[in-house]
Amino acid sequence: PGALYVVATPIGNLEDLSARASRILGEVTLVAAEDTRHTARLLRHLGLSVPMLSLHEHNEQARVDQLDARLTAGESLALVSDAGTPLISDPGFVLVRELRARGRRVVPVPGACALVAALCAAGLPTDRFLFQGFLPAKGGNRRGRLEGLAVREETLVFYESPHRIRDTLADLDHCLGPRRVVLARELTKTFETFLDGSAAELLACMEADPDQSRGEFVIMVAGAGPRDDQQGTDIEADALLAALLGEGVGV
Ligand code: SAM
Repeated sequence: PGALYVVATPIGNLEDLSARASRILGEVTLVAAEDTRHTARLLRHLGLSVPMLSLHEHNEQARVDQLDARLTAGESLALVSDAGTPLISDPGFVLVRELRARGRRVVPVPGACALVAALCAAGLPTDRFLFQGFLPAKGGNRRGRLEGLAVREETLVFYESPHRIRDTLADLDHCLGPRRVVLARELTKTFETFLDGSAAELLACMEADPDQSRGEFVIMVAGAGPRDDQQGTDIEADALLAALLGEGVGV
């Protein structure tokens, strides 16, 4: 039987498509895509004309048997989403779960992923982080989710759309208080921006410059508790030491 390749595609900059991804898209007999019109543009850019099949949240279960039959017949297939890594806040989980349960070969072809791109350049701790995808759309549910996260010590990571970014920043301010927030906007694109401050400060920045609320966002929030305090203690200890040394006091 063939394999299903789970292929990451760019999140903005086409140069981020890997050489391996490009080769595999040229070798498979079918590309299962979240939006075939969107993926058609990528394939055209690569000079490829591979047959496509739509695979989105509403037909994913129904596609499983169809795609499995092709694998059994020896074909190799690719799964892509509109941007970044499939299954990460994108379709594909049901397909991958079902194919694995049937013993099929599922092969990752890694590449761009907005949450990893955002974290690796934000300057917040990355040793432990908690990815939460999109927060609930309804205000009450969103605040409920944030309240539940208030005690977590890991860096919190969210995806957000331009429609809700201001509401979400207001809720972050309300539920988590004056913590450090880093907002990564339009990653890998022309207007890539990192904003750093409290949620209230970032909100004020958007009020002053509406362009700052356009595009796609990854929101990262400092975790609660000991690690921040620990850092604070170190800084205070350093300042105390410097003061003591400056005054010629032996330590
Ligand atoms: N599968 C994608 C990935 O690997 O990151 C995520 C897909 S999800 C439907 C789309 C969300 O990802 C956007 O609303 C935004 O939060 C984030 N995102 C995608 N591309 C981005 C970019 N270029 N800059 C910032 N955030 C981005």
